[in-house]
Amino acid sequence: MSEQPTRRDVLGHAARGAALLGLGGLGAYVARKGGLAGPWQIDAGLCINTRLGLVGLDACQLCATSCVLPLSAVRAVNDHAKCGRCYICPAYFDVKSALDEHGLPSGKLCPRDAIIRKPIGDIDPRDPANNYYEYVIDETRCNGCGLCVLACKEPAGLTSLRLEVRYNLCTNCNRCSIAQACPKNAYERRPARTT
Ligand code: SF4
Ligand code: SF4
Ligand code: SF4
Repeated sequence: MSEQPTRRDVLGHAARGAALLGLGGLGAYVARKGGLAGPWQIDAGLCINTRLGLVGLDACQLCATSCVLPLSAVRAVNDHAKCGRCYICPAYFDVKSALDEHGLPSGKLCPRDAIIRKPIGDIDPRDPANNYYEYVIDETRCNGCGLCVLACKEPAGLTSLRLEVRYNLCTNCNRCSIAQACPKNAYERRPARTT
């Protein structure tokens, strides 16, 4: 006599099938969130401070405050190819501060004075707006607070500044504490670098 499958057999079979089907997605999730060994990095397209279309928000400072290290492994970096080399850079200056005798904002935005402003070429004092400047992050001071990164985006910035996990500083925690805190799920495992 052939045995009829019981309701429990059918449900168990369906559950195992669903579990197997789900393994592909789970594998991708585990790879992205820490199951495999590639280093942690930030997807700038998801981060509040760089994602275009997210406006009117305060800077997210969780990269600075959530790392297990006393000074976070995250730094601002400037993509000089995208930078406008602005005379009055809103990421360098506190553009809401009073003007000084040169007509420049008297305050700086960075609370750690971690951005260096260097003139490019000869400066023409008669035409200041047509002078150009390079903005370089002092990585010994920066803690990745993101204030300059947000300012480089808004209101019509070029988003040349972004946050990066610096591989030479990061201890590559199995469960990155910033990834756990990030409200935009912007942390991911990148493929291990070979160089
Ligand atoms: S925690 Fe996430 S959203 Fe916040 S600054 Fe870091 S990457 Fe951006
Ligand atoms: S991320 Fe914060 S600490 Fe780093 S340069 Fe920008 S404003 Fe300064
Ligand atoms: S993996 Fe660890 S050390 Fe690296 S950024 Fe995340 S919390 Fe900091």
